[in-house]
Order: sequence, then structure tokens, then C-alpha cells
Amino acid sequence: MDLNARELLDKLNTEHSLSLEEYQYLLDNRDQELMDLAAEYARGFQAKHYGKQVFIRGLIEFTNFCRNNCYYCGIRRDNRDCERYRLSEDAILECANLGYELGFRTIVLQGGEDMAYSDDDICNILKAIKAAHPDMVITLSIGERDRASYEAYFKAGARRFLLRHETANPKLYAKLHPAELSWQHRMDCLKDLKDIGYQVGAGFMVESPGQTSKDLAMDLKFIEEFKPDMCGIGPFISHKQTPFAKEDSGKADTTLFCLSLIRIIYPEVLLPATTALGTIDAKGREKGILAGANVLMPNLSPTNVRKKYTLYDNKICTGEETAECINCLKGRVSSIGYEIVVNAGNRAGFEK
Ligand code: SAH
Repeated sequence: MDLNARELLDKLNTEHSLSLEEYQYLLDNRDQELMDLAAEYARGFQAKHYGKQVFIRGLIEFTNFCRNNCYYCGIRRDNRDCERYRLSEDAILECANLGYELGFRTIVLQGGEDMAYSDDDICNILKAIKAAHPDMVITLSIGERDRASYEAYFKAGARRFLLRHETANPKLYAKLHPAELSWQHRMDCLKDLKDIGYQVGAGFMVESPGQTSKDLAMDLKFIEEFKPDMCGIGPFISHKQTPFAKEDSGKADTTLFCLSLIRIIYPEVLLPATTALGTIDAKGREKGILAGANVLMPNLSPTNVRKKYTLYDNKICTGEETAECINCLKGRVSSIGYEIVVNAGNRAGFEK
């Protein structure tokens, strides 16, 4: 183990902050021993704030129409081979009902940026779910909209919003997105969401095309400073119908190390072991939890649309019924000595 790296990791473990250069040093000088030690420190904070509990959020992928053309994403506007679908309010409500029966107390409505759903449509969906299940906490993940829209959704009952910042480096952002998309605008959206009172999820892809360890260090510094309630990270995985079809996918190890560092940086953070991590490594989600993650986001979408919400190739859990998925996850989680719990899964220390 590199001794300077070890010293920096120990410093992070007590101070929860490093300089950009120090984060980069950790990333550049990691070996298995250092990653194991980071995971051990991370599990310490995980145990302190969450015990052996793993929170679940049910993901309802309600539309794969998207007005954007992100170079990495399989449901980008220009992918003509993507078979598009939209779920009706009734279909969404049915997923929410099933989720409730299966023990979900929080769901995530995620989709492409599909303007066919007006603000009123989104608000009506939110109100219908809240009317049926007052104790269901609803997360939106529908990309960039106006502040007034975000305010309307909050008023209609949404309490969380996931909007990954994708990368904290505007230069890398510009390599991953067409010029019409702005890093500054995405960051402004995140600030607005926090300001309105949402529990906010940021996050980034690990080892996206052209990403350097300095870029990743910038992501870690951003998480340290912005302190999102949740941080969703997963490896970049190439999709054959995108401009990045021939790019290498990110690695599980790098993702796991980042998960551990994020847990140490912000001990209370909600940290999902993502489907992308489970796709790149058959035991990715279990390893993610052992690296410090405490959240899983199983798919609640109707089975017949799941294969169409393909952000990247070989996505797992697209064939099973929701109930089967939950059973599989329960088994995976208990195999490593953790348990899935029935609750809204707030961040430790979250007041309200
Ligand atoms: N339209 C919404 C939801 C995006 S999909 C929004 O803009 O927030 C959720 C996340 O999937 C994205 O934020 C991105 O980080 C991730 N993603 C997209 N394509 C991916 C790929 N090829 N590999 C890994 N993750 C990907």
C-alpha cells in the first residue's frame, strides 16, 4: 500500500475532506489493500447511521421518449432503433399500487425528458399516488425543467428529486453532451431543487469516455461541498446505438472505490448500489453494499416495457416480474448479512 495514500485515507476518515489534488492522489495510487481499507472505513459509517439496513426504492420508468441527445444514453433522441413507450396515469398508479403491496414506501418516477407530460400531468400523477398512499414518498427523476415546474411538483406532493450532475467538470460535460445542453444549467437545477426543499440526489458516471482521475476527483470534491442527500453512481456502460458504442465501459473496482470514498466523505449520504454496477459485475450490488452503499432501486416498471428502457447494453432485471426481483434482491442482501427494510428510507439526520 502506498503510504502517502494511506495517510490521506486516514485523514479523510477523520476530517471528511481533502483537496482536489489529494483526492486525485488517492485515485491514482490505489491498490487492493487501500480499497479494502476504504471499504472497511465506509462500512463503519454505514453501520453507525444505518446498521445492517438496506433501503429500497421502486423505480418506475414511465417514458423513454427524450428530447435530449446525450452521447452515452440509449434512449437519446436520435436513436431510431429505440422502440418508444409512455405509461398512462393509470398504468403508473398500478405500478405504485403493486409497489406498495410489495413493501415499497418510496418510489421513483424516472423518464427521458418527455414534454408530452405537462406540468399538470405530472402533478396529477403525483396527487393520484399520494391520494392512494399518503405515506408513499415520491421521487421524480425527469431531468431539467423550470424552477416554477419544480415548485409545482413539490406542491403536488413530490419530496425528492434525482438529477445526476453527470460530471463536475464542465469540459468533460461538453464531451458527453451536445452543445445544446449546459453544465451550468444542470447545476442551477440542482441548486433550485435543494432550495425548494427537495431531498436531492446528484451523481455521476464512473469511467465515462475521456474521464480522467482529475475529473473523478472533481466529482468527489463536488459531493463534499454540495452534500446531496443521495449520490447515485455507476460505471459508464456502452450502448451499441449511441456515438459511444465502441468506448470501453467503466470498471466495477473503480466504482466500488468511489462508493467507499463517498460514504467516508459524507457518512450519512444515501448511496445506491446501482443496476449499472450489477450489470457490469454479477455480484456488483452485493459488493456495492459491502463498499458502503445502503440503497437498492429495483425496477417496478411493467415487465413488457422494461427492455425498452435501455440506457446501456445488457441491463439486468428486464425479464423478471417485480415480485421475483424483490425476492432475488432479498436473497442477495441477506447472503451478505444485511436486510431490506420497509420504510421511506430517509437520509440519516434528515429533519421533517
Ligand atoms: N432523464 C433523466 C433520467 C436520466 S437516466 C435525467 O436527465 O436526469 C438516469 C441516469 O442513467 C443518467 O443520469 C445517467 O447518469 C445514467 N446513464 C445514462 N446512460 C448511461 C450509460 N450508457 N451507462 C451508464 N449510465 C448511464
